[in-house]
Amino acid sequence: MALLSTTDFPHQIVATEGFAHKRIDLHSHTNCSDGALSPQTLIDRAVNFQIDVLAITDHDTTAGLDIAQKHIEDKNITLKLISGIEISTAWQGFEIHIVGLNIDKGNSELKTLIAQQQEAREQRAIAMGEKLAKCGFPTIYTEAKALAGDGTITRAHFAKVLHQQGHVNTMQQAFDKYIGKKGSKGQRAYVKPNWCSIGEAIQAIHQAGGSAVMAHPIRYDLSAKWLRRLIVHFSEVAGDGLEVVLPQMNPEQRKKMLAYCQEYNLYASMGSDFHYPNKWSDLGRNLTMPVGAKPVWAQWQ
Ligand code: AMP
Ligand code: MN
Ligand code: MN
Ligand code: MN
Repeated sequence: MALLSTTDFPHQIVATEGFAHKRIDLHSHTNCSDGALSPQTLIDRAVNFQIDVLAITDHDTTAGLDIAQKHIEDKNITLKLISGIEISTAWQGFEIHIVGLNIDKGNSELKTLIAQQQEAREQRAIAMGEKLAKCGFPTIYTEAKALAGDGTITRAHFAKVLHQQGHVNTMQQAFDKYIGKKGSKGQRAYVKPNWCSIGEAIQAIHQAGGSAVMAHPIRYDLSAKWLRRLIVHFSEVAGDGLEVVLPQMNPEQRKKMLAYCQEYNLYASMGSDFHYPNKWSDLGRNLTMPVGAKPVWAQWQ
């Protein structure tokens, strides 16, 4: 695990006293996956928002990290970039996202896993394109692929094209009507992805020297019983921490996540999951580590 200098983080944070001096955001996306901004523009935005520590965590790729780091060096920016990734996994019929933080992106096991995930994404995209063609939209795959470019192809690209072509009124509606999975089988153009397991994602992240954090536990639409099962499993396969703070979470939810961390002896992470500028959330906004949490970056110091 790459150790960071203690000056990268204020000592108050380790003492769990909150964020007197530094703004930290450990979950964000660029156009190397389904974010709207290039890595350079994302870094510039983070600087404008006075973020001191930012993790880029694109879906199943680390491609944005070198681009962002080069920009930081070229422009003499003081922001500390944390190398991250968000890995899609399958567990009990649910899609669970595992964030890897402070990883060595050159690690061969991680690279192998990324290649498998990219292949699974490509296969799913083709199958989704075929289903959408049967729904009367024959060009969606080609256009989603063009939109993704060299980056990771995601359902967000399909949703955007469906919206641009006027087949749905919002991107959310593309999920609700066609490509989402509500119910046991999913919508008309839903394709079950062939993701790795939670344990495999955690193992690759650990091989790469990083911390494995369960992304947005509140967003999986799980009952309290199932969420607990998920956290127990995550713990058993050596997961390190939970994202206990997201901008949209209310105080009650933050409290509950903190309680899970304490009960299962897990570290706590926080991030905006920023994808594109919008009025509801932004980089670093509304992120405060709760008192009593063990911040994930304590593992790196
Ligand atoms: P994928 O990883 O290819 O399944 O794409 C999922 C991405 O689509 C997520 O990371 C979100 O950024 C975006 N998204 C937007 N709305 C939804 C939704 N209702 N369900 C799932 N993903 C959504
Ligand atoms: Mn996304
Ligand atoms: Mn996610
Ligand atoms: Mn994300």
